[in-house]
Amino acid sequence: MKLSKAFIPTLKEVPADAITASHVLMLRSGMVRMLSAGIYSFLPLGYRVVQNITSIIREEMNAIGAQEFHLPALNPREIWEETNRVAAFGDTMFHIKNLNRDYVLAPTHEEIMTYHARNQITSYKEMPQIWYQIQTKFRNEARPRSGVIRGRQFLMKDAYSFDSSWENLDKSYALHDKAYRNIFNRCGIKYFIVGASSGAMGGTGSEEFMVKSDAGEDTVAYCEKCGYAANVEVATSVVAPIARDAVSEELKEISTPNVKSIDELCAFLKIDETQCAKSRVYIFDEKPILILITGNEEVNETKLEKLLGGSIRPAHPEELKEITGADAGSIGPVGYKGRIIADNKLKGRNNLYSGANKNDYHLGGVDFTRDIKNIEYADVRIVEAEEGCPNCGEKLGVFTSIELGHIFKLGTKYSAAMGATFLDENGKDNPIIMGSYGIGCERVMACYIEQHHDEHGIIWEKALAPYHIQLLGLNMKKQEVAEESEKIYNELLGSGYEVLFDDRTDAQAGFKFKDADLMGMPLQVIVGDKKLKEQKVEVKIRKTGERFDVDIDKVIAWVKEYFEKN
Ligand code: ATP
Ligand code: MG
Repeated sequence: MKLSKAFIPTLKEVPADAITASHVLMLRSGMVRMLSAGIYSFLPLGYRVVQNITSIIREEMNAIGAQEFHLPALNPREIWEETNRVAAFGDTMFHIKNLNRDYVLAPTHEEIMTYHARNQITSYKEMPQIWYQIQTKFRNEARPRSGVIRGRQFLMKDAYSFDSSWENLDKSYALHDKAYRNIFNRCGIKYFIVGASSGAMGGTGSEEFMVKSDAGEDTVAYCEKCGYAANVEVATSVVAPIARDAVSEELKEISTPNVKSIDELCAFLKIDETQCAKSRVYIFDEKPILILITGNEEVNETKLEKLLGGSIRPAHPEELKEITGADAGSIGPVGYKGRIIADNKLKGRNNLYSGANKNDYHLGGVDFTRDIKNIEYADVRIVEAEEGCPNCGEKLGVFTSIELGHIFKLGTKYSAAMGATFLDENGKDNPIIMGSYGIGCERVMACYIEQHHDEHGIIWEKALAPYHIQLLGLNMKKQEVAEESEKIYNELLGSGYEVLFDDRTDAQAGFKFKDADLMGMPLQVIVGDKKLKEQKVEVKIRKTGERFDVDIDKVIAWVKEYFEKN
């Protein structure tokens, strides 16, 4: 493609609301434009990347025996009523009312695939089946953000498996797990996997393929060394308890007028947060339970519920007063009558400060072993960075991340609701056992850019690059430059490379270099009159910035060798 004829509107400035690196770079390099919040047009350069991604996905899906469909985005509402998902999606689903019929724009396609399975699959002999498509989804996301990372219309690869037994579902699921790893590896994306399959038959295992990203909305704890990854809602860690002081001070009551929060207490007594035992009262099974954590930490309510085996809620202010005799800021474990669970990090500590169960008073010199009866210890804290990995002890990282893809054992949820059944070997009717498997195609593109860019622009590897090579004719008004670049262009095309040829006659060399770095093709072949005099051109590797002088007649061979290795 010749740049003089191409529609690649690069930008110097982008709108102020574009903050995420990938969003900024996709706008600047002329790959996308926003039409409305969360709705993007892909321009020719950007669409080439989408096509590279969908080709890789297609190849890997076909390789596991999956068959490609193309389902309608416009769905009759009734089908979605069969599984109650009109209500479940609520405002996230787009509705269309026309000619007195109700339609919805599909946010995913479990119902439609199950509809086809219900009508066609009748016997165990017709399974396994894996059906997939690469198609547009519509979700009225409340907060579309970060460009195409969270859009209201987006391209998804969604696949569905249909099996006659739970063992076979495990096999279909394992095939997808393998395909997903291949897809993301081939795309050059560094990912990690959250949530392991239960492994047990009949299990409803799921795995989320995630990437670290400031644009993400999930916070996860991740171990670089062993791959342990879990949402902080459920993540655990190992921490060494803080040692006891050698001498236990006496328990003393301290007047703390108007001191309510840990911050206020620390400022008032000039102590550190780690010397405070923070109390939280929850109601579990209609009874109060006091949870103790270190002053600067928070209770992980999900973990606490798992530990207790049921749901909890924070005690209301009036309940707090009734249970402890004090308001929220003055509650403490000493003299507290009910069940007490302290976080492992507080095990056996002394010389701590806590509420005195009396408004405007705190206690100092609290010794957990001496002063509190029947204290239990457990991991009830939200995991923090640098704590030990529960598998291998290495330091955990805690960061926000975003989901690229998801594989999920659905079981019979949709088939049972929609009556999609089959006859088994014994002639008995059973609901089909299903799985579902999604990948956000544009999100893959944005996440790749998040991981592969520098201050100058995008850095493409060959697999996803819109073009393999950017050929720069530096001074195209000079006949020898124009002729030689045109010749190299045709030779590169003839050798099967995709080339973007900056043949603009009116653009300065500096401008061309900037554009080439911004668009980020893996190789730049630079033709200028100075080097031409020595029968040479320059080749620049975008990733490393290395430059090489290459003989004109060896350019093709050089490029070939480079791409064989990279
Ligand atoms: P998220 O938690 O990010 O909202 P999700 O759990 O709703 O994702 P799924 O329903 O599992 O996502 O959809 C499969 C894939 O589609 C996701 O892994 C993601 O890559 C992509 N995806 C989901 N919502 C969007 C969106 N609004 N814009 C772009 N891609 C999306
Ligand atoms: Mg979502």
